[in-house]
Amino acid sequence: MMRFLSLLLFVSLGISSLYAQNHPLPIEIKQAYKNGTRAPSGYPGQNYWQNHAKYEIDVRLLLSEKILKGEEKVTYFNNSPDTLDRIVIRLYQNIYKKGNPREWPMGDNENEGVIIDWLMINGDSIDLDNRRSAYVFATNLTVMLPNPLLPGDSLEMETRWKFEISDRTLRTGHYGNDRFFIAYWYPQIAVYDDIDGWDRVEYLGMVEYYNDFNEYDVKISTPPGYVLWATGDLVNERDMFSDYVLKNLMTARLTNDITRIFSASDFKKRNKIIRYDGINAFHTNIWHFKATQVPDFSFAVTRDVNWDGSSIMVDSLTRRRVFVDAVYADSARTYQQSAEWARASVAYMSFELPGIPFPYPHMTTVSNDTRGGGMESPMMANNGDPVSAPDAALTIFHEIAHSYFPFCMGTNERKYAWMDEGWAAFLPLGFSKKHFPEYPYDTRSISSFENINGKERESTLMTLSYSIGDYDSYRSHAYVRPALAYYFLQDALGDSLFKLALHEFVHIWAGKHPLPYDFFNTFSRVAAEDLNWFFEPWFYERAYADLGIKKITNDNKIVIQNYGGLPLPVVVSCEFADGTTELIRRSTLVWRSGDPAIIIQVDSDKMINKVTLGSEFVPDVDDSNNILEPGY
Ligand SMILES: [Zn+2]
Repeated sequence: MMRFLSLLLFVSLGISSLYAQNHPLPIEIKQAYKNGTRAPSGYPGQNYWQNHAKYEIDVRLLLSEKILKGEEKVTYFNNSPDTLDRIVIRLYQNIYKKGNPREWPMGDNENEGVIIDWLMINGDSIDLDNRRSAYVFATNLTVMLPNPLLPGDSLEMETRWKFEISDRTLRTGHYGNDRFFIAYWYPQIAVYDDIDGWDRVEYLGMVEYYNDFNEYDVKISTPPGYVLWATGDLVNERDMFSDYVLKNLMTARLTNDITRIFSASDFKKRNKIIRYDGINAFHTNIWHFKATQVPDFSFAVTRDVNWDGSSIMVDSLTRRRVFVDAVYADSARTYQQSAEWARASVAYMSFELPGIPFPYPHMTTVSNDTRGGGMESPMMANNGDPVSAPDAALTIFHEIAHSYFPFCMGTNERKYAWMDEGWAAFLPLGFSKKHFPEYPYDTRSISSFENINGKERESTLMTLSYSIGDYDSYRSHAYVRPALAYYFLQDALGDSLFKLALHEFVHIWAGKHPLPYDFFNTFSRVAAEDLNWFFEPWFYERAYADLGIKKITNDNKIVIQNYGGLPLPVVVSCEFADGTTELIRRSTLVWRSGDPAIIIQVDSDKMINKVTLGSEFVPDVDDSNNILEPGY
């Protein structure tokens, strides 16, 4: 019987070759290996390069008209080996422009988009009405350079622009009650990279970041009575805040306890928060921020809110502390505890998983008072205020987790959203178990995966994210399937090897632009085995979660068949004729040989009455093959 069975397994492996095939590499990736910009080992190649820019932006927030008006000087450095005859500039706010394509309905909230008064390159004025020198298509403005930009050279772009801040908020905008969160706002030079050249993917609402690592020097003018938080350091803090606020800030930056820096009622007393002398005497506040080596810059402006903060030492070697703070209104449902949750999130990420010191000097979470959801930007999160505490805490955690992916690791979310959303959806699993043991974060992820897994609408992870139009399909592609892929990869490799590979991936690619291939190759190299048996079905294929009990032999061998082809842990519960039970668990690693079936030898010769396969922690889209009762 057994001999027959193994022959059967051998033959079926030969026919289906379940995991063994390697997908042919795309031509651009082969070329990158040839050019030495990337390497099959997963390391950045010896010829790896990336471009970057220095932004100096002076911006004025006109609150009554809800207009943002800016002047901007950008120095753009061409580190590529190519001579550039054009630059591509992103005008994100054109998503609101009348008649433009988009994936989110705007109702009657369309506006004029970004209005550019003038634009100069190296002092030459660009004729924006002449299609031979510049053209706009949806959210991209392409400017033909009067003189080509040579390798190793830089150019200076200067521009003046404005746009209307929309009340139809999408990652950014006016959230009502004078709460503004401004992201995706200034004309920004797109990424030029070794794979695609210029990134021309339009911003239609669904896909998010792919940015270079830049320097920012931003001055933002607001009317009096408002406070502003932003990416980077407020360099004129001592000119802006009262002694009362400065003293509380100092305390918060040095202690683990949460300090109330100011409260909503403090806004009623003039001079309590803002220092109205010196530069603020003329009733315009100019907030001056600087940030280096960050992929973007955003800010929040509001009043009548509470500001809580504390700090945490994230690196025991350097004793570096991170300031972690939260901003919310008195009407908030769950945010009274938000500073604590944010602090616990930074602690978890710094010391547990990924277990890498938090990469930024501060992390500010702002509640926009809407029902839920959240939006990350470097050092700043723009979150809704859900009804339940775990929902709020896990949203806060998720948006902070983006500090690692895609901000520290400059992944291309427009093409591979799972390279950041997947991690930001996976990392809360452990945090949730630790702080909210009753909360079903894991089983909810699993059932949401089961709802779409194996169905026609499910996209593979290697489908380019921007090409997916269906919302549920995108959710599953960007968040759910990759989060579970990382979860079961951890199960396959074991916690310490998984963490070692993750650390290696972060350390060699931090501040750069890793691709999926760099991720796969780094993990395989660290694991010292070809992990394609895992990566192929989870990332490339439409494999789905369906394990089943094929048969039980007289000598108590249980044959588990992988009908869906997805490598998963095997959990089997055996009920014996004498009434006793045994729980058997095999890790995801059992599928590494590529065989579509495995044999579990039960460690007892007692008669088996019933075998049940599965667990609420392992997805399975077909339960009909999960119970076998050989005794009947
Ligand atoms: Zn996210």
